[in-house]
Amino acid sequence: MSRNLLHCGLGLACSQNRQPTQGNTMTNTQQQVDLSEKPCKCGDTMGEVIGFRERSTDKEKVMYRVCWYCIKCHATEKAIGRETSVN
Ligand SMILES: [Zn+2]
Repeated sequence: MSRNLLHCGLGLACSQNRQPTQGNTMTNTQQQVDLSEKPCKCGDTMGEVIGFRERSTDKEKVMYRVCWYCIKCHATEKAIGRETSVN
């Protein structure tokens, strides 16, 4: 897995995968919701914050989406339910 992990102010690893929205690419092949980032109320983009938790069954460290974090206004939005699953 080649995620671009950065350490943010929350003490967790987060990735800011900014992708330019310019261009005229026709991406109508599949409707897949990208949860790696979300629009923030301030107009900027919130990036996902990835954490690790230990699976109780085999003590394996598994990645999960903790929340989204806006580096501009420092807002956070907690990931709930299926939003916490990475991949
Ligand atoms: Zn913001």
